[in-house]
Amino acid sequence: MNPNQTVEDESQPSITAMTRRIQRLSIHLTPLPLFQPSPQLNMLTCAKANKLEFDKGSLSSYMRGKYRESQEKVLEFFKSRPYLQTPIEISMNEHRELCMRQLMALVREAKIKPFRYIVEDPAKYFAIAEAVGNIDISLGIKLGVHCSLWGGSVLNLGTKKHRDKYFDGIDNLDYLGCFAMTELHHGELCFHCGLQTIATFDRITDEFIIDTPNDGAIKWWIGNAAVHGKFATVFAKLILTTHDSKGDSDMGVHGFIVPIRDLKTHQTLPGIEIHDCGHKIGLNGVDNGALRFCSVRIPRDNLLNRFGDVSRDGKYTSSLPTINKRFAAMLGELVGGRVGLASSSVGFLKIAVTIAVRYSLLRQQFGPPKQPEVSILDYQSHQHKLMPMLASTYAFHFATRDLVDKYSEIKKTHNEQLVGDVHALSAGLKSYVTSYTAKSLSTCREACGGHGYAAVNRLGSLRNDHDIFQTFEGDNTVLLQQVAGDLLKQYKDKFQGGPLSVTWNYLRESMNTYLSQPNPVTARWESADHLRDPKFQLDAFRYRTSRLLQSAVARLRKHSKTHGSFGAWNSCPDASSRAALKLVCDLYALDRIWNDIGTYRNVDYVAPNKAKAIHKLTEYLSFQVRNIAGELVDAFDLPPYVTRAPLAMKSEAYAQYTQLVGF
Ligand SMILES: Cc1cc2nc3c(=O)[nH]c(=O)nc-3n(C[C@H](O)[C@H](O)[C@H](O)COP(=O)(O)OP(=O)(O)OC[C@H]3O[C@@H](n4cnc5c(N)ncnc54)[C@H](O)[C@@H]3O)c2cc1C
Repeated sequence: MNPNQTVEDESQPSITAMTRRIQRLSIHLTPLPLFQPSPQLNMLTCAKANKLEFDKGSLSSYMRGKYRESQEKVLEFFKSRPYLQTPIEISMNEHRELCMRQLMALVREAKIKPFRYIVEDPAKYFAIAEAVGNIDISLGIKLGVHCSLWGGSVLNLGTKKHRDKYFDGIDNLDYLGCFAMTELHHGELCFHCGLQTIATFDRITDEFIIDTPNDGAIKWWIGNAAVHGKFATVFAKLILTTHDSKGDSDMGVHGFIVPIRDLKTHQTLPGIEIHDCGHKIGLNGVDNGALRFCSVRIPRDNLLNRFGDVSRDGKYTSSLPTINKRFAAMLGELVGGRVGLASSSVGFLKIAVTIAVRYSLLRQQFGPPKQPEVSILDYQSHQHKLMPMLASTYAFHFATRDLVDKYSEIKKTHNEQLVGDVHALSAGLKSYVTSYTAKSLSTCREACGGHGYAAVNRLGSLRNDHDIFQTFEGDNTVLLQQVAGDLLKQYKDKFQGGPLSVTWNYLRESMNTYLSQPNPVTARWESADHLRDPKFQLDAFRYRTSRLLQSAVARLRKHSKTHGSFGAWNSCPDASSRAALKLVCDLYALDRIWNDIGTYRNVDYVAPNKAKAIHKLTEYLSFQVRNIAGELVDAFDLPPYVTRAPLAMKSEAYAQYTQLVGF
């Protein structure tokens, strides 16, 4: 862009820019021929160690599970429609429009109904969302904002009248919507978050009046608000005027359905001001906007009244006695967003690790003197970077699948204890997995050298688009504090004889067993059989959790005296797949233990020689995983156009492609 060009000029491209764009679009009309790798570019297999043989297809089926066909339908749909694929270079406005067309095509042409799946089969929804994110993360988020956040708020915070009125419009995208929680001065999904937007009941007209009392209360970062949204669920403090000595009563934060644009003309409705949050570091296919309300009147029926209602004569009723309990119940219903982010984040980790492993198997560098070149994945340092990451990807795949299953169960059973569990687990896994993926995306970029920096290889856009996963749906630091708070509460319950929730039950034994002295005999066991025994691995994790928890409680007790009180396997289809999964499981567990070896050594939970043995075995397992790394990433079963360029590197097709995109 010409440095003197203004933002307005961007929407009026020069003839040269237009010619470039037409050239680029022509790529879609005359797609590149399918790349056949030349024999020299075959991935190198390592001849040194004995290689675990396993059936890749069977492992892949097990990994993809029962929603394989649904995911393939999404991927095939976009593959067969190049004009719906996001090009490497695209302006923000074009990206937003393309994203909207992608979403429309998915629902109206492919007849895939994600919103319906949220109700009928939540696990299917998350599988579809993961596949949609593989097309373009922006599309995945746009779909998530519409179906899970806006649609989810209507389903979960509203009652039958809301479902009857809005379900079809949300399902067929006529009622594209937003979820307006965050304000300029206050983030989302936190207790006592101090939202300031108000909804005052007007008894005379039987309406709520929505107001933004000051600039700090402007709803900010709201997905789908800048361009496409017709409705928003607006979170506001419900104010009842009592007309007596008590004056106004604040009943706490509630959700309200507020139409923001005319259904026919798409004009912004009176009293609503919409600003564009503009170009972002990533996710530019999503139109985030800011909303200000000036005496916007909505019918009383637009209050999402599952947890609190207002009668025609202005009386408030709720089964929950306090503002905090109502807010907690409301947030509890919104965990689906976090479950979706954790699951999608693993999807991006799969793509990145597949690109990096395939590149590393392909790329050859000098080997030992006077010997042939080796693949860079034969370098120990490279194995250290990528093999524990590959093992972690498998671990997170199963962990998030378990979370999705638990979430589906609470939607069916409404088991209160499990609801609390899913709340804590989703907070912990969302923050742990998204932080891990964010770091790993950078590592994968580095692991692909200069080629990792070529936009065509996706790692840059994956990194930029995924980065915000650490912040939205609850900032990771704040979420981890919530998990810590939950663990402390469980600790207290344990010693006060109260019930432990299902997830934290695993701590029960460890609390009693491990809070005493570590076993000096087992601390010295170094055999590979012992180190690869799931009992040792799980015991070590439990031990560390219990120990950290106990020490946190001791420190909190000490500080509270001076500062006051303060408030995560399955069977597998065939033996060979089981062996492969056991290998990545051992690598994951021992790498985690090795990463935290300080904690274990400090208390002699592992003796010095055992620590050395763990390190040696971790290196050996890394090497073993390296030998099947190609097959392991193949088992993710990602179509070539999702992980496209690395296989085409150094090839004619790659040169052709880079030429056409103008490098
Ligand atoms: C692309 C994008 C899309 C979004 N979409 C939506 C949407 O559709 N709807 C919606 O309602 N919101 C949306 N958001 C808002 C998002 O949820 C918030 O940005 C997020 O909740 C964090 O709030 P904040 O920006 O106010 O950050 P802040 O709360 O200001 O956090 C800033 C820093 O302070 C730290 N911090 C904050 N509180 C604590 C604490 N208690 N203890 C320790 N450290 C703390 C955090 O760790 C962080 O590092 C979106 C944001 C973005 C960027």
